[in-house]
Amino acid sequence: MSQTTNQKNIQLIRGFKDILPGETELWQHIERTAISLFEDFGFREIRIPIMEKTELFARSIGEDTDIVEKEMYTFADRRGDMLTLRPEATASICRAYIQHKMAAQDPVRKFYTIGPMFRRERPQKGRYRQFYQIDAEIFGVAAPYADIKLIFMLRTLFDRLDVTDTTAHINSLGCPACRPRFKAALAQLLSEAAPKLCSDCNRRKDRNPLRVMDCKVPGCREAMAGAPSILDYLCADCRAHFATVTDTLSRLGVPFEIDKQLVRGLDYYTRTAFEIQTGALGAQSAVAGGGRYDGLVESLGGPATPAIGFAIGFDRLAEIIAAGAPVTTRPPDLFIAALGETARRQAFEWSAALGVAGIGVSMVYADKSLKAQMKQANRQNAGRVLIVGESELAAGTVVLRDMASKSQQEIPVKGLIDHLVKALC
Ligand code: AMP
Repeated sequence: MSQTTNQKNIQLIRGFKDILPGETELWQHIERTAISLFEDFGFREIRIPIMEKTELFARSIGEDTDIVEKEMYTFADRRGDMLTLRPEATASICRAYIQHKMAAQDPVRKFYTIGPMFRRERPQKGRYRQFYQIDAEIFGVAAPYADIKLIFMLRTLFDRLDVTDTTAHINSLGCPACRPRFKAALAQLLSEAAPKLCSDCNRRKDRNPLRVMDCKVPGCREAMAGAPSILDYLCADCRAHFATVTDTLSRLGVPFEIDKQLVRGLDYYTRTAFEIQTGALGAQSAVAGGGRYDGLVESLGGPATPAIGFAIGFDRLAEIIAAGAPVTTRPPDLFIAALGETARRQAFEWSAALGVAGIGVSMVYADKSLKAQMKQANRQNAGRVLIVGESELAAGTVVLRDMASKSQQEIPVKGLIDHLVKALC
């Protein structure tokens, strides 16, 4: 048996997916809308590598998190260095901010980045092992206006994309000054509730009790229903910060809910934490999440730098939008139906010149009847078809057909490109 017949078709890795033409149009639309908005708001693109040293994520995201405990794609490279496919972008952006000494020129920086992230979670609708995030971060601003700016920008992006069925959930996680008091109160409740908690939460409750509030297991949710609110434990500074965030968002007309259960999965958050939730995605209700991480840059060896950011789940956003309005592939501006090899060669040269002029041209290179080519033009939704026959070409004319009105017009070959550029632009 030959090798090829012996082989099975190779399939995608579980939890990974292809984004095909028909979907990529929407992805590009979302990307363009986000980039244009972020640039207007003064953010600049940063591109960071897909892999980093494992230690970066272990130190920043936290050893007790699901991501670091069980979801990272980590491996030793050929020299034995431990590397990890990035599970999120913030740690790498902090690393870059520190490594390139950006604070020395201007500590205030606004970044965005868009790209794939990798987490070995159990795949289901809206949850993948390679997924994409649209990420924005502000470094060097302690004032609550950075928090408001990010949440307002997120809301504006969703509005521009006509994503309306979403709610912003907001909480404050306090700071190193006030969080210990809350943690102590929580620890008290957790020790009483221990028998009702899942095994993960039982393990975490002493090292990182806040994480228990984030657990989705029904038993844990029930046990946490009577948990104290962190908002009752905030210090005066954190209280004032949170009040400015909520008051200003209200004045700007951004709808939100205060959600005292919201803690976010990563260790590094302080003060404002937020999540955009939607009913459109079943179990995976979070379409974006973010928060302040004032201690992270310093804990990674950089200068003390307050910072805040968000990440949008690109796949989830695209799924919400696609469910409301299925997208179709972009039709060509012009389909050229050429009959015979001489006509085809000429048509091909015209298609090249039209491409340079910014006109999308489609044609078939095989020898097909006019009927077959017109069928193809229809399938591609072409608005106009240029019919190039050998005898007409010899006489110096071609025919331009409008597919909607079915009207046809003879055009001289001389000056054809200029004519088409004017007619189609
Ligand atoms: P996080 O980095 O965990 O705060 O996630 C930010 C956003 O990324 C979430 O709100 C989700 O929309 C999205 N996200 C996180 N994990 C996944 C995943 N495994 N598959 C798809 N989207 C995800």
